[in-house]
Amino acid sequence: MSHTHEKTDVILIGAGIMSATLGSLLKEVAPEWEIKVFEKLTSAGEESSNEWNNAGTGHAALCELNYTSEKPDGTVNISKAVKVNEQFQLSRQYWSYLVERGLIQNPAEFIRPIPHVSMVQGEENIAFLKRRMEALSKNPLFHGMEFTDDHATLTEWLPLMMEGRDEDEQIAATKVDSGTDVNFGALTRMLFTYLKEKNVEVNYEHEVKDITRTKDGFWELTIWNQEKRRTEHHQAKFLFIGAGGGSLSLLQKTGIPEAKKIGGFPVSGLFLVCNDPDIAEQHHAKVYGKAKVGAPPMSVPHLDTRYIDGKKSLLFGPFAGFSPKFLKSGSNLDLIKSVNVDNVITMLAAGAKEMELTKYLIQQLMLSHEARMEELREFIPYAQSDQWEVVVAGQRVQVIKDTEEGGRGTLQFGTEVVSASDGSVAALLGASPGASTAVHVMLEVLEKCFPERMKEWAPKIKEMIPSYGIELSKKPELFRKLFAENEEALGLSSPVEDRESLPASS
Ligand SMILES: Cc1cc2nc3c(=O)[nH]c(=O)nc-3n(C[C@H](O)[C@H](O)[C@H](O)COP(=O)(O)OP(=O)(O)OC[C@H]3O[C@@H](n4cnc5c(N)ncnc54)[C@H](O)[C@@H]3O)c2cc1C
Repeated sequence: MSHTHEKTDVILIGAGIMSATLGSLLKEVAPEWEIKVFEKLTSAGEESSNEWNNAGTGHAALCELNYTSEKPDGTVNISKAVKVNEQFQLSRQYWSYLVERGLIQNPAEFIRPIPHVSMVQGEENIAFLKRRMEALSKNPLFHGMEFTDDHATLTEWLPLMMEGRDEDEQIAATKVDSGTDVNFGALTRMLFTYLKEKNVEVNYEHEVKDITRTKDGFWELTIWNQEKRRTEHHQAKFLFIGAGGGSLSLLQKTGIPEAKKIGGFPVSGLFLVCNDPDIAEQHHAKVYGKAKVGAPPMSVPHLDTRYIDGKKSLLFGPFAGFSPKFLKSGSNLDLIKSVNVDNVITMLAAGAKEMELTKYLIQQLMLSHEARMEELREFIPYAQSDQWEVVVAGQRVQVIKDTEEGGRGTLQFGTEVVSASDGSVAALLGASPGASTAVHVMLEVLEKCFPERMKEWAPKIKEMIPSYGIELSKKPELFRKLFAENEEALGLSSPVEDRESLPASS
């Protein structure tokens, strides 16, 4: 038997960080709108947003070497790093607003300060790291960055990583103390608690199976209610597809022309985890290294201090791999089913172009525990195999599309909001920089889908996110003020000297 329900203003598919962020933004700018959420799993934040499925880095480009590239003349291009940092500032401001208004509580449960470190070995890489540091230090967003190639200082910064290294080893690092570890799972759950308090109807164990458009312009969803074992139909004026890896196939079902010629390439991930408190205590940083030749940007190796359920642990990885599933809880048929007449040429072109990547991912998948430990030993020379275990991380589905620069079937590594020209439906594809930039990406959804409302909503958005529409890197005084306020609100106390070392004006 099938059940048809009342029409609603907004439906959000998926209970991850993206739907949580969009739902909460909408509840602030348009509190009267009725919102429903449909999630196929039993609770919020169980897929990529879960704390064990991602690395929990508050990506602000403080340590990720893949956000800065070397130009042919040897200078360093920092434009992507600046962009990512600006986007993370929006998240910090919004989370601070929510905490200050008591809409979410206990920020220490979802965000903690942790130094962000970039570490390299060898003369050439050290020279690059120095030039990178010089280029970034001129920008107020990267205040407080320190460089060292001195073993004694490195031992102070990274005792576990320096133990057992040859004194002659050429190694250097930069460090920024104001980095963060973010528990996106906890944040997602807090946001869903808040949404429920605001009368948002959150339906778990409801899997969206199909999406069609009604004659009067509503989106109609066919949903399998797993608990009641029945099919339901729900309609909404506006639909957001925040289904993570599941977004592509649902977007394809809408039939909007913007969804044609887009494909997805799944990349799976594994981490090595150490829960031994004695070892975890010896490391206090997120340390990012350089990606191996041929590795995709999301598999830059890093060793992270994590705070999960009040416990400190260490995470190393990710080791990429190939799996045809689009979600961790997905099906082996996901990849095949995502290929259709509209995107088959794009997908075939990508297949031919990305043979090397596929080979790399399969090789990664075949690595033994000992081979993974060998990679870890480049970070912790004395790491012991029995102290580290494997955890399976979330799936990322990278977007494949035809682009002017890359031609047919080009693999994209960023996130992408795909929306209908009338703004009635939007989907989020891709997963990088990911959850850290959820606020920026969901503001983009509002801009794309509700352009006629933005003037009316702007004062509220500015109240929540004061630097909305402003490039903070060009307004150092405003940046300093907001940064210090957010540190306070989120309980992230970075050393006072760092704050005072910010440039006073542009
Ligand atoms: C290995 C790895 C490391 C990462 N590291 C970081 C990091 O350090 N920092 C960072 O900022 N980001 C990181 N990310 C990215 C980040 O995790 C994602 O960008 C983010 O969690 C995506 O959130 P989402 O809400 O779009 O998707 P998800 O959290 O995956 O949520 C989507 C939800 O939709 C549901 N769903 C799917 N299909 C349906 C359907 N048909 N019907 C109903 N519900 C459905 C799913 O069950 C799921 O709950 C990482 C990702 C991975 C995989």
